[in-house]
Amino acid sequence: MTPSPIWHPFTQHALAGPMTPVASAKDAYLYTADGHRIIDAISSWWVVTHGHCHPHIVAAIKAQAERLDQVIFAGHTHDPAEALARRLLERAPDGLAYVFFSDSGSTSVEVALKMALGFWRHSGEPREHIAVLQHGYHGDTIGTMSVGERGAFNAAYEPLLFNVASVPFPTPGAEQTTIDALESVFKEQATAAFLVEPLVLGAGGMLMYPARILSEFARLCRHYRVLFIADEVMTGFGRTGRLFACEHARITPDILCLAKGITGGALPLAATLCRPEIFAAHYSTDRARTFFHSSSYTANPIACAAACANLDVWEREPVMGRLAAIEQMQRSRLAAFAANPRFRSLRQTGTIAAMDLAVSDGGYLANVSPRLYAFFQKRGLLLRPLGNTIYVLPPYCITGADLDEVYAAIAEAAEDIV
Ligand code: PLP
Repeated sequence: MTPSPIWHPFTQHALAGPMTPVASAKDAYLYTADGHRIIDAISSWWVVTHGHCHPHIVAAIKAQAERLDQVIFAGHTHDPAEALARRLLERAPDGLAYVFFSDSGSTSVEVALKMALGFWRHSGEPREHIAVLQHGYHGDTIGTMSVGERGAFNAAYEPLLFNVASVPFPTPGAEQTTIDALESVFKEQATAAFLVEPLVLGAGGMLMYPARILSEFARLCRHYRVLFIADEVMTGFGRTGRLFACEHARITPDILCLAKGITGGALPLAATLCRPEIFAAHYSTDRARTFFHSSSYTANPIACAAACANLDVWEREPVMGRLAAIEQMQRSRLAAFAANPRFRSLRQTGTIAAMDLAVSDGGYLANVSPRLYAFFQKRGLLLRPLGNTIYVLPPYCITGADLDEVYAAIAEAAEDIV
């Protein structure tokens, strides 16, 4: 066979070997073209919530594809988008009033940043500074790389990135340092917005911090009149044990970014929800105050129908009970690693569990990561460690037996590698 012409994401082709050909998927499993079963223990990059090919979501996609496949969303609307926007607002933290659709997590954050800067400019008080949390990840567009952690991911593109104020991650015991640093930033510069991943920083290494710190962030933002942007692209739709991570801190952000699990993981779609003041600042007979953002597939009807079907699943099936069960299953399995000297920093928030392999070089580019990946691959497991951080972020239909297989392989991998 001639080599594939496809350039894959986050893949060093000189080292990666052949890509795994996946022919089908069901529940927590992927099936390769030659019939092997793979346990999808990271929900295919954190998107699949209820399981692959959930019948209700598949049926909604089929039905919508036959009715209306796509329509320009400027000057037009359709039932799936209208229904979805209303239903998202009903379920989102109180106080959010408008929904702007886009098509990936990165664009949901780009939209949030533009909404924030537009708000201040149109309010007659231009503010241009953005503050973020150290180790954050918000996507790979130029804007979202700018607000993310600087390092191997984006070193080559540094000349294009804009400056932001980054406050230290609230490590256990040093949370006050973060709060003080954030307050200093707010005192020193007129900040337009503070952007964070609530409770769990995903690609930054599954770093976790408590809900009370999230409340503190929201309190400081309110006090200094800084817009608070919650990037729930990963944490949204149940990952932390509630529908949205912000619920743990009982806060409503000014802007909320959603993607990944919004369609249950079936189709690309994103939504940026905002408070009415942000929409109002753009609402004007002056065309220059239009919110100048779109992408061709904004609010694609099939994706919106999938997202409505996803919300049906949340309403009709015992999803909260499943989250509690996964949380418990993860906790008991993680606990068994507490006495294992090959691991450190065992941590869990809701359905997400993570631990670090005790090796001296654990950065994202360290060799330990591809070695672990290859080990798990041979075992029929999709686990994709971030440097020396191994995390398990499963679909909510995963069984205890599957998790046993996953954790047994993690223990063996450590014996093999450390
Ligand atoms: N924000 C967070 C918190 C993420 O975890 C990700 C992706 O992993 C993104 C944004 C970017 O999402 P996408 O890959 O859909 O552009």
